[in-house]
Amino acid sequence: MNSPLTVNGREYAWPRQPLVAVCIDGSQPEYIEEAIAGGHMPFTQKMLESGTDLRGQSVVPSFTNPNNLSIATGVPPKVHGISGNFFLDPESGQEVMMNDPKFLRTGTLFQSFHEAGAKIAIVTAKDKLRRLLGHGLDYTSGRAICFSSEKANETTLAENGIENAHGMVAKPIPSVYSAELSEFIFDAGVKLMRSFRPDLMYLSTTDYIQHKHAPGTPIANQFYAMMDHYWEEFHAQGAALALTADHGMNAKFNQAGEPDVLYLQSLLDEWLGAKQARVILPITDPYVVHHGALGSFATVYLVDSTKAHELAVRLTEVEGVEASYTNMEGCVAFDLPNDRLGDLIVVSTTNKVLGTTPERHDLSQLKEPLRSHGGVCDRQVPLVFSQQVEATGVLLHNYDLFDLALNHAS
Ligand code: ZN
Ligand code: ZN
Repeated sequence: MNSPLTVNGREYAWPRQPLVAVCIDGSQPEYIEEAIAGGHMPFTQKMLESGTDLRGQSVVPSFTNPNNLSIATGVPPKVHGISGNFFLDPESGQEVMMNDPKFLRTGTLFQSFHEAGAKIAIVTAKDKLRRLLGHGLDYTSGRAICFSSEKANETTLAENGIENAHGMVAKPIPSVYSAELSEFIFDAGVKLMRSFRPDLMYLSTTDYIQHKHAPGTPIANQFYAMMDHYWEEFHAQGAALALTADHGMNAKFNQAGEPDVLYLQSLLDEWLGAKQARVILPITDPYVVHHGALGSFATVYLVDSTKAHELAVRLTEVEGVEASYTNMEGCVAFDLPNDRLGDLIVVSTTNKVLGTTPERHDLSQLKEPLRSHGGVCDRQVPLVFSQQVEATGVLLHNYDLFDLALNHAS
């Protein structure tokens, strides 16, 4: 039971103590840095005296699903197949959410460890990630629990490995647009650590706070203070902690406080005529209130794909475009699966976002100046450990989290 496992070509040692891995959604490294500097994370500050504080990169597109699945599989989207929150399914020609495990091309670390006898607990904020992360776990084994805060009152033994998970947490089910949705995860996690004591626990929050509040601001600090308190409880229960983010987050507004949008579909319609290009924004999900479906990454399908190279070059000249690639170039640059991206891949500069056309983005729900992610500029993430961890390379990624925590900690 204790021999190392090979998962997707990487070898992992068995956890020596329960490992709690946390993916803090949208946690640009400055959030923890500022909260520590302001005295809001006393446990984490102390933890880092004997622990490890590294930095790494997320995968691009710096969105939630591709990165959570990269962390969970230890490999980039080229291998696991989840290239966005949303994509154009070439089989159906429909734009669909990438929430279905049928899009997953590899197993997860959780599945492999579970098959080798480990106890696994996974708690996510939104239900959209739960099925992907929990794929392949046998809930009838009594060794696997996986649910979301959002649907904690609907869990069953057959689907989630736990009957009425909500019953553990003495709080109402929070709104999907709240900080409490993330707090619920930690509250449930601490209780599961006590009652179920998993070998591996994976907790994945929502970036509701980070989309609205910059690092070091009072509400952001309050959110990080909340997490600090729960991390201390895990530590007190003898668990090791490994913390990262699915991606960072940056301000994306102009001097007037309006979202600084480059409407790519409008631009390409102007260049090529109507219906020659179809812009897909892989940030799109049903929960658009906090970002208006605006991020720093887009892919474009062309009717005439022989124009891809010429258009990629031309787009590079457009103000607000940081880089644009043909499918081939972009998939090499970012380790993406060719068949799940369009003919062009476009990333915007730090404070700019890419949209389709003005009519297709409802910005009326944006109450604060836009903060979002998706591009190269938003890929900085923390890699923070309660233990001494030896950095294995010059360039680390969030998907090295389990390798670092299991293989390189002392
Ligand atoms: Zn995210
Ligand atoms: Zn987000």
